[in-house]
Amino acid sequence: MPTVLSPRTKKSVSKSKASASSKSVQRTYYFGKAKCEGDGTMRALLGGKGANLHAMVKMGLPVPPGFTITTEVCTEYYASGRKFPNGLIAEAERAVAMLEKETGKRFGDAKSPLLVSVRSGSRDSMPGMMDTILNLGLNDKTVEALTSATGNPRFAWDCYRRFIQMYGDVVMGVQKKHENDHEPFEEVMDGLKRETKIKEDTDLTVDHLKELVARYKLLIKKWTGREFPNEPMKQLEGAIGAVFGSWMNERAILYRQKYRIPDEWGTAVNVQAMVFGNMGDDSGTGVAFTRDPATGENVFYGEYLVNAQGEDVVAGVRTPKRVQEMAKDPIIGPAYKELEKVRATLEKRFGDVQDFEFTIERKKLYMLQTRNGKRTALAYVRIAHDMVKEGLMTPEHAIGSADPEAMNQLLQPVFDRTAYEKARKEGRLLTKGLAAGPGAATGIVVFSATKAEQLARHGKQVVLCRIETSPEDLRGMIAAEGILTTRGGVSSHAALVARQMGKVCVAGAGEIFIDYHKGTLTCGKVTLKEGDAISVNGTTGEVFAGAIGTADSELKQVLIAGTLKPKDSQVFRYYDFIMKLADTYRRLGIRTNADTPEQVRNAIAFGAEGIGLTRTEHMFFEGDRIDAMREMILARDEAGRRAALAKLLPYQRSDFEGIFRALEGKPACIRLLDPPLHEFLPHDDKAQQALAKKLKVPAVSIKKRVEELHEFNPMLGFRGCRLGIGYSEVTEMQARAIFEAAALVQKDGVKTKVEVMVPLVAFKRELDLQVQVIHRVAEEVMKATKQKIAYQVGTMIEIPRGALTANEIAHTAEFFSFGTNDLTQTALGMSRDDSGSFLPRYQELEIIRDNPFASIDVGGVGQLVRTACERGRATRPDIKLGICGEHGGDPASIAFFDEVGLAYVSCSPFRVPVARLAAARSAIKNGTSPALKGAKPAARAGAKAK
Ligand code: PEP
Ligand code: MG
Repeated sequence: MPTVLSPRTKKSVSKSKASASSKSVQRTYYFGKAKCEGDGTMRALLGGKGANLHAMVKMGLPVPPGFTITTEVCTEYYASGRKFPNGLIAEAERAVAMLEKETGKRFGDAKSPLLVSVRSGSRDSMPGMMDTILNLGLNDKTVEALTSATGNPRFAWDCYRRFIQMYGDVVMGVQKKHENDHEPFEEVMDGLKRETKIKEDTDLTVDHLKELVARYKLLIKKWTGREFPNEPMKQLEGAIGAVFGSWMNERAILYRQKYRIPDEWGTAVNVQAMVFGNMGDDSGTGVAFTRDPATGENVFYGEYLVNAQGEDVVAGVRTPKRVQEMAKDPIIGPAYKELEKVRATLEKRFGDVQDFEFTIERKKLYMLQTRNGKRTALAYVRIAHDMVKEGLMTPEHAIGSADPEAMNQLLQPVFDRTAYEKARKEGRLLTKGLAAGPGAATGIVVFSATKAEQLARHGKQVVLCRIETSPEDLRGMIAAEGILTTRGGVSSHAALVARQMGKVCVAGAGEIFIDYHKGTLTCGKVTLKEGDAISVNGTTGEVFAGAIGTADSELKQVLIAGTLKPKDSQVFRYYDFIMKLADTYRRLGIRTNADTPEQVRNAIAFGAEGIGLTRTEHMFFEGDRIDAMREMILARDEAGRRAALAKLLPYQRSDFEGIFRALEGKPACIRLLDPPLHEFLPHDDKAQQALAKKLKVPAVSIKKRVEELHEFNPMLGFRGCRLGIGYSEVTEMQARAIFEAAALVQKDGVKTKVEVMVPLVAFKRELDLQVQVIHRVAEEVMKATKQKIAYQVGTMIEIPRGALTANEIAHTAEFFSFGTNDLTQTALGMSRDDSGSFLPRYQELEIIRDNPFASIDVGGVGQLVRTACERGRATRPDIKLGICGEHGGDPASIAFFDEVGLAYVSCSPFRVPVARLAAARSAIKNGTSPALKGAKPAARAGAKAK
């Protein structure tokens, strides 16, 4: 595929910035004994693989020499319509000449031919996604030279036919056209095997291989109309183009989407002298990790094969041996000693676990690549702990390289491995929904909260299966081991409540059909009835028919259940070390969304520094208090409402008292009543009749009131501060409960830091009216109890108008907490409960990249947050700013909140470790960490929220 620049392209390329200065742009970087032009810091330009090859050469490790074509060339290649920039090939020729000099071999030489590998390598590794070509430089002449050099004609001709096959496929496009076609080269091979009655590839003789080479060339001619290029430099041109081309293949594009690798990065191309692990029993090849990537244990972990090429190890045709066994090999044993040394050198130089490839050619060890090894969460904490203590890893790297999301792995109950595999084999996997609350749960199917409670009371493990959940289902959710919904997204009620409680939850499993009347759950051909076993995995979204055993995580046993002592849990010690280290770097405070003392205690055990949101409405669903709440809603006048509220007051007061005691002086941000009232009333006839009986009122009046309260769009209706403005006695009761509780615990010597938060404010006047009530009640309580209670009053910013008029609102509000769930919903005009039906398609079409309810929409909602911060501070420079929407537990969003200088993020208790690590990582990345010398101040950062 010689690349010819058309005059038109030449012109357009020469206009581009890179080509305009083409003389001064260096496009190839040599690495070898002669010179080594790059180093390990040049990942962006040389790709990860390239940079590390250069680094290894600089370290004096045995690396076959070669050169790297930069990632910028890939960008130029695409910018000019898949054409090489001027001068690239000439530069590559000069690099090849240097390679020839260093190796003493020449491209196309009949005696001592140079053979090279051509490999991709982007900034972040994309394993197996792009193309590689080995043995480039072989042709009819050089194959003979390889024969004499090795004394092994079969080896030489097998290399040649593999090369033609690989080249024909990757570079010249001789590939099957439809999924069910046979691979064209395989067909030719099978044809020859049939003719010669040979079964195994390994039984093909030299003559057969020669015949195969001829037939392969014919196939290429027939297929493409072009000859297979004999000339190595032409082969190289084609291979470089193919590697660049593979940057845009479907696999690579998908991978980049999943791991958020930008298209603009491009791939580098590494051209490197070939070494052969398949030259006999004195040769071999392998892959290894410097430590165990699954457990993190400091053991050499890898595999190798004697007399094989790299692909044989991965392909799994032959079973490789454990790398340690190499020590005992009489022929290549000495290379193992060297490998052990390399293992130590690599960790010391790269300051992290390395995953590397090596080849032994005639007893001599060569390093082909190295990169930071991917690892499980367990391995991450252990490796970071050990390597920081050993002085091999910097604390900044230990935290900066963390995947905060993976911390969840350490907290979840898990499916018993064997039982899980068995269930999969038995075909019991029903479907995959949204992974909404991590962990694994198993139990019997129930379709109502009441049933869930009933059965749980009798010691049964249940999975609550609902089309969607509402606050009414809370009791059932508490009682259930796991929750499954067929509708709703990651910030749906079920999902957020489940995460807050640390419950396993799969949401929006749209392939499942639930029929409440029949009491069945159907997915495809499988129907489960109430009482049948079901298992859900909220980490992966998987739903299984039947039971799968689970086990609790060690961290939960130490931190929550207290059934394991910290000193008896190694995992806990590693985790604790990392968390404490993270805390030294982070600037953001971490609070929690918690509604009960138990949730508060859990969150504090995980490291929360206070409450960022208490949703008081959740408290109304416990025990009998829902009756008083309903009585309040059904009351016809203020007197009636006040009578019902008087019943609720003691409940609320004791709720807050419990929370203040659990907080032991940490701040508590308590939000006044928020949801639309209809959510508290029963909707079906039977439940309405039961309530009528209980409250001694006619059932019709309940029905009528429910109808009166019906709203077309309750999310935009009579809710938030509108309730408190409509019925100020509700605000009064809640404020009284808060302040009386504070007075009570203060009397016992427990400190309190109270923040009263008004929801859904769009106008300053709304807040003013609510604040008047709150201040009045506070004065009354302080007078009556003769106690001074320190408190602040602030608002949620969750309506775009509130964000835009933050300068006005800040005259009254002492703090803002961004309610990014509602702010996303209102800014995008997308219902947080219904968007699940079209969001996946939006993501597919790249209208949006991430689900905006899970990860903050920086470009839109983010602007509102930024604006509100700026305007709020303009009025009140020391205004306290936080966020309590679901985004408070999302690492990418946390990085944004850190950047805009919020004081804290608030998330569900079980996400606190994730948030601690994400905040620390972001502070290191943004350079705002107080622990880093010369840290730049975040946009008006302020001290950690206390
Ligand atoms: C929000 O809107 O972001 C919020 C925290 O409040 P809720 O989810 O209760 O509406
Ligand atoms: Mg809200």
